Amino acid sequence: MPVPKRRKSKSKTSMRRSQWKLILPSVALCPQCQAPKLSYRACPSCGYYRGRKVMKSEEEKKKKEEKK
Ligand SMILES: [Zn+2]
Repeated sequence: MPVPKRRKSKSKTSMRRSQWKLILPSVALCPQCQAPKLSYRACPSCGYYRGRKVMKSEEEKKKKEEKK
């Protein structure tokens, strides 16, 4: 397995680490219920994605739990 010949200097390490940044997730509002949701994900509060119901909403999950 190849191994680096020399240890990287503190300068080179900090130059590399200077590029580390925090990436915030892109949050958008749901067109169905206006709740904040992650873009390109189905809305967790109403279960809609691209104007179509694709999964059960949080409210429906709670209702199911009550029945049990
Ligand atoms: Zn929604």
